[in-house]
Amino acid sequence: MSGSRESSAQAGSGGADDLVGIGFGPSNLALAIAIADHNRRDPGQALQTGFLEQQAAFGWHRGMLLEGATMQVSFLKDLVTMRDPSSPFSFLVYLQQRGRLADFINQKSFFPTRIEFHDYFEWCAAEFAGDVAYGQRATEIRPVVVDGRVEAVDVVSRSTTDPADEQVRRTRNLAVGTGLTPRLPEGVELGDRVWHTRDLIFRAPALTDRPHRRFTVVGAGQSAAEAVDYLHRTFPDAEVCAVFSRYGYSPADDSPFANRIFDPDAVDHFFDAPESVKQDLLDYHGNTNYSVVDGDLIEQLYRTVYQEKVQGRERLRILNTTRLTGVEQGPDGARAMIRSLTTGEEFALDSDAVVLATGYRPVDPRPLLGELADACLTDGQGRLRVDRDHRILTADHVDVGIYLQGGTEHTHGITSSLLSTLAVRSGEICDSLLLRRTARDLRTDFGRGAQVGVAAG
Ligand SMILES: Cc1cc2nc3c(=O)[nH]c(=O)nc-3n(C[C@H](O)[C@H](O)[C@H](O)COP(=O)(O)OP(=O)(O)OC[C@H]3O[C@@H](n4cnc5c(N)ncnc54)[C@H](O)[C@@H]3O)c2cc1C
Repeated sequence: MSGSRESSAQAGSGGADDLVGIGFGPSNLALAIAIADHNRRDPGQALQTGFLEQQAAFGWHRGMLLEGATMQVSFLKDLVTMRDPSSPFSFLVYLQQRGRLADFINQKSFFPTRIEFHDYFEWCAAEFAGDVAYGQRATEIRPVVVDGRVEAVDVVSRSTTDPADEQVRRTRNLAVGTGLTPRLPEGVELGDRVWHTRDLIFRAPALTDRPHRRFTVVGAGQSAAEAVDYLHRTFPDAEVCAVFSRYGYSPADDSPFANRIFDPDAVDHFFDAPESVKQDLLDYHGNTNYSVVDGDLIEQLYRTVYQEKVQGRERLRILNTTRLTGVEQGPDGARAMIRSLTTGEEFALDSDAVVLATGYRPVDPRPLLGELADACLTDGQGRLRVDRDHRILTADHVDVGIYLQGGTEHTHGITSSLLSTLAVRSGEICDSLLLRRTARDLRTDFGRGAQVGVAAG
């Protein structure tokens, strides 16, 4: 591989970690836990790991930790229970340690608030403080080549506060858990008054100067509806306009049979299905996750709209069948240009801020993988080929395992970017790491044996 470092076997993978995880969100946190649970059970076969996280501390979508917003997934789909209900990292153990187990049960709800679940994640993450380099952004992966084989990689990272601070970690496997990146409407750029929902509660509370005119929220999914609700509550002197192309918010399908699409078994079914069936399943069940809203929130927003009609002061305005065509940023606001999809009429909404609740897209890991990207196999559509154990299929000369935690909807189905199967997926990755290490050790022993045999002969 051009430009790769040729090293002796010892300098190659000797002393390397078994795994470096890039990103320390819930996915790689669940993996850290699965490995810690394994290491506790079988210290003789312990895996050596390290993680890099660009944030200064653990944080899960902090910009959307809105008061009262609840999880879209049962607390039983925490970071461990679906893999091992006896793990010390379950939500129930967390509740017990926080002294809230009975109080939580009395609520009779499977759905904690996001603020509480964030606290649970932080409680888990605290156990791994020594294994995570916070404030370090992975910037480059350099293959370590020994006798023509990629035996390890050097993961280069830079401090987010001091770019001169560069660290390098050598590892035999990578777990890429870098999450999703905001999707923006074409031609629209973020600015002081044009925000993605990702930053909502970092930005909105700063707009304290009254009077407020209007906030415009673009999108019809869960984050959009939550942003509308939050802005309406937070700025009682402002109008809040919801702009979306649908006729109305649509409810998320969380009915029990459809919910099975989030089961660990569904990953097997999806993985083994022909390509056309995969696409059908994503189309049939997209409404469990995409562009849909929790039913209770829809009802609540509708009640608000109706009550405001009764009172003659309509502050919450649903501008359905409309589309954002552009945004002009100004010093103290932003003008959203809107087109009606039914009449073609164009109009402007002068707003204190325009909030883009336009969702996220997976991050392609290939730019980060650098020259190793050329060794990753792709399908007819240029998408990464990923094995059942969540490892990218690579050319034969690559011994390094590159595991993907997300961005695998095309191979593993709709749970790829969600929490539902994190516990089980992490267990599968841990098992795969162990299996592949054993296979490598056997190969090495065999090689040694063969060498001894030759020398003896
Ligand atoms: C507001 C909101 C609510 C949600 N609620 C739910 C829910 O209730 N149920 C559900 O199933 N899903 C939910 N989701 C989906 C969400 O994708 C998952 O909850 C979860 O965040 C996936 O975890 P992750 O670790 O894969 O990604 P992330 O949580 O995005 O974590 C990725 C991490 O990688 C770090 N990172 C990125 N690049 C680098 C780099 N180069 N170097 C170092 N670090 C890096 C990031 O800083 C981040 O901390 C929600 C999403 C949002 C936006």
